[in-house]
Amino acid sequence: MKILLLGGTSEARRLASVLVSQDVDVVTSLAGRVRDPRLPAGEVRVGGFGGADGLAAWLAAERIDAVVDATHPFAAGITANAHAACAGAGVPLLVLRRPGWATVQGDTWHRVSSLPAVAEKLEDFGLRVFLTIGRLGLAHFAGLDRHWFLVRSVDPPDPPLPPRIEVLLDRGPFTVDGELALLRRHRIDVLVSKDSGGEMTAAKLTAARTLRLPVILVDRPPLPPGVQVAGTVAEAVSWIDGITDGWGYKSRSRDRDL
Ligand code: NAP
Repeated sequence: MKILLLGGTSEARRLASVLVSQDVDVVTSLAGRVRDPRLPAGEVRVGGFGGADGLAAWLAAERIDAVVDATHPFAAGITANAHAACAGAGVPLLVLRRPGWATVQGDTWHRVSSLPAVAEKLEDFGLRVFLTIGRLGLAHFAGLDRHWFLVRSVDPPDPPLPPRIEVLLDRGPFTVDGELALLRRHRIDVLVSKDSGGEMTAAKLTAARTLRLPVILVDRPPLPPGVQVAGTVAEAVSWIDGITDGWGYKSRSRDRDL
């Protein structure tokens, strides 16, 4: 039994660690975007496969029995490729996707469908923007010369960039106190985020609520039709257990604290 785990998220690292502790043969794949990535337990490979066909060839060459796509909710390209490659090769696929964020009382969120839609929407708000969309996609804001942007990313962004910008190199988890201090220090008018979900980067939303700041949230791209989805690492472990059982292996403990 050999699993390919498409990674780049904290859930992927947690799943890799559980599988390694259960002696499952797992290889995590990273895109190679981040210079100094947090590495998961177990075997790791880095770099693209060469599209859906390349991934299908890789699955066959490595004799992969199942794929768990635990990539970021906005990594739609690799998710589409995994769906196509697994369907063509008859390899079971699970998408591990944490739930998106939900509003609570006091939130003022404006949902939009894309980054270009954010750029248009910004006209309705103040001029000082905390742009937490990572370093890819900043080109959509390059033409906005009236706004000032605070951009936070793990690695420095490449041009084209907005003309009035300050880049903060950092990575989560972030605290509410830290986010409050940041929003106040930079006199931010509006927060922009993707609906990534999860705890690691949610503190900015709490801080925005506390300061009564509006949030522009980019909706997730849709999943491929008919794909099987798990919302938690525990569900993904159960799915893998089910496949293992089907192959005649002894079932693993499902009571582990995940
Ligand atoms: P993407 O647009 O969906 O993928 C573009 C290409 O990158 C894919 O076609 C594939 O190249 C390669 N790729 C992506 N993820 C890969 C993986 N785990 N292993 C091997 N190749 C991979 O992806 P993206 O939005 O640029 O994100 C890249 C990675 O960063 C993802 O793995 C994701 O989990 C992580 N990440 C993304 C975001 C985000 O906001 N998008 C945020 C945090 C982390 P080939 O076609 O050559 O196979």
